[in-house]
Amino acid sequence: MTLTEADIDLIDTIDPRELMAQVDRIATAMWVFDFERKRIVWANHSALDVWGATSLAELRRRDLGVDMSRAVAERLDQYRADFCRGDATFSENWTIYPNGIPKTLQVVFRGLRLRDGRMAMLCEGTVNHDIRPETLRSAEALLHTPVMISLFSRNGAPLYRNPASRASQIDPDLTLHNRLVDATVADALTGALDYGSDCKVVAQTRTNRGIRWHEITARICRDAVTGVQAYLVSEIDVTELKETQERARFFADHDLLTGLPNRVFLQAHLPKMIRNATTDAQSLYLYFIDLNGFKTVNDTLGHAVGDLLLKAVAGRLSGFVAERGTVARLGGDEFLVCIPDRTGTLNPQEFGRQLIDLFLEPMDIAGHVLHTTLAVGLSICPDDGTDMDTLMRHCDLALFEAKNDKSSKVTPFSMDLRQRLEEKVTLEKDLWRALERDEFVLYYQPRLCVKTGAIVSAEALIRWQHPERGLLGPLSFIPACEETGMIIDVGEWVYRNVARQQAQMQAEGIDISLSINLSPRQFSDPDLITKILRLPLDTGCNPERLGFEITESVLLGDSEMIRTALQRMKNHGYQIIIDDFGTGYSNLAYLQKYPIDVLKIDQTFIRDLKTTAPITRLIVSLGQVLNVRIVAEGVELGEQLDWLVENGCDEYQGFYFSRPVPYDDFARLYETNRERQEMLAKMRDGQGLRVLRS
Ligand code: C2E
Ligand code: CA
Ligand code: CA
Repeated sequence: MTLTEADIDLIDTIDPRELMAQVDRIATAMWVFDFERKRIVWANHSALDVWGATSLAELRRRDLGVDMSRAVAERLDQYRADFCRGDATFSENWTIYPNGIPKTLQVVFRGLRLRDGRMAMLCEGTVNHDIRPETLRSAEALLHTPVMISLFSRNGAPLYRNPASRASQIDPDLTLHNRLVDATVADALTGALDYGSDCKVVAQTRTNRGIRWHEITARICRDAVTGVQAYLVSEIDVTELKETQERARFFADHDLLTGLPNRVFLQAHLPKMIRNATTDAQSLYLYFIDLNGFKTVNDTLGHAVGDLLLKAVAGRLSGFVAERGTVARLGGDEFLVCIPDRTGTLNPQEFGRQLIDLFLEPMDIAGHVLHTTLAVGLSICPDDGTDMDTLMRHCDLALFEAKNDKSSKVTPFSMDLRQRLEEKVTLEKDLWRALERDEFVLYYQPRLCVKTGAIVSAEALIRWQHPERGLLGPLSFIPACEETGMIIDVGEWVYRNVARQQAQMQAEGIDISLSINLSPRQFSDPDLITKILRLPLDTGCNPERLGFEITESVLLGDSEMIRTALQRMKNHGYQIIIDDFGTGYSNLAYLQKYPIDVLKIDQTFIRDLKTTAPITRLIVSLGQVLNVRIVAEGVELGEQLDWLVENGCDEYQGFYFSRPVPYDDFARLYETNRERQEMLAKMRDGQGLRVLRS
């Protein structure tokens, strides 16, 4: 309200003291509240009564902030803000507690500027003795509830807002329609209300805390003041709940760590992508991706770094693929990139190559510079399959091959690949069955003294009595055992059975040593040495009659670990034999580092003595220098044996004397050989006698 010149003239005719004296006397309680100091600065007589004060001075001393609730304090702040913004008036039922006794008044609040310019509040209160307790309580509840309750006229203008509603407004005049962010939701809401329905929606709402999700319940009612129809709207802020629900929904088909779609997502969306590709005669490329060496990162730098690496990889992949397709995480360090080729212009190999090249640049992960490479398998729809299962399986097979291959190029699926892998899988299954059903057998190939022709040892060589395919040589299954790691179990079967048969031979009077082949991969069995050292206890074998054949490649590994392992075996009496000598790295210096008893010259040298004679001779003399017995392998011809006699080789093994044979055949062979040796010895003795006599 602004005063006109005439008004001011009129006021000037009145003595302000007289006016104040009359105001002091009127029945309505009036007081001025200082927001900042939380004190009443002025009150008329009725107000002193209402507040139970003995004098204005006493009332002014009261600090109303002392036991003011936070809700009331916030509400007062809100009033002050509204007064500052404009010429606002509020009328509310207030309950005050002078000296602890509740007193309910109908209070009209208005802003009033103090002399110092600060905003205060002029309150006019009438004590309402007629209000019933439930009305009183419901009014209090309405004031204090966090539920935002508003009444709007049917054109959307606000008629009433409870404090919670007022506190959430960005603009006190905002209509119901403008309060809602989505106009279609607002239309639907008012439409339904006008139709007479009660409504409940969760909608985005403009509030002074920003855009929030409110659960809005609304219905049409009559304004108790005018009797005109109005909208009664109550709102609850459900933003947190909504966000939690949305997060839960998002992570149902997305990966928690990287935020990428997961398998559930693919299950839901890939079939559709496949359908699109097949019906529109387009191609869809699936790339299965696996990080090489991820396990090492996890094991050496910890899972936290591993997680960061996965996130970084996810970032690079999805940054590159962007709108062109989908990047998903299948679990662990496996990702899937799915690219629909709508124009038929994409080269799938080239695209895969680009994925690999994304990682040419090393990544800085928590201060570690990591060089990551990818193994990538590719399957193409429709060429390699027209359903999700087949395409995924084929892509997985291609990835498997890529991992084996270790060359960082894209490996596409092919039927040939599938056949090879299936054979491998069948072989592996069959091998486990072979172990279970004891289908392996040991053959023995004699090793003889070059000078005397006596059998001094035998090499145990495994065979597989396959139920369908017959007797199989080791070359048809040992490589697969090595690749799959099954060699650890198969190898254990071998040394346990050789040890057992050694004990048996000894009992039968066959006093020679047997040798056992050990694959390099068997050294990855942490219990290998323990198991070998326990053999005498387990089988009754004599360790001094057992030797282990290892290839040079074993010695190239962790040399200290291998050296102690070999030394422990040696200390228990076992012999150490280097197999296939000359084919590997043939570093003569290392031989001295290891406790070696026997060197077996590889068959290729013996087969080709014409050209290898000088080097073979060198190996033989090396044996003499190092005090290591030299064995020639693969001796098939008499002249080869002659050469060995002439050049002082210690022992030999080969088809010339015998192929590898089963245990019983070997025992007979040994018996014949012994008889012959004894006869020769007798003859030598006889000759000696004759010499003596003559
Ligand atoms: P290796 O250790 O070099 O075994 C000698 C191979 O040469 C044997 O083949 C043997 O039959 C063959 N051989 C012996 N004398 C002659 C000959 O005069 N001429 C020709 N051409 N070949 C001859 P086999 O039994 O087929 O074994 C092949 C390979 O399989 C072995 O080579 C060895 O590396 C592996 N192997 C055999 N048994 C076992 C085993 O129990 N464990 C492991 N880890 N590997 C084994
Ligand atoms: Ca061997
Ligand atoms: Ca050999």
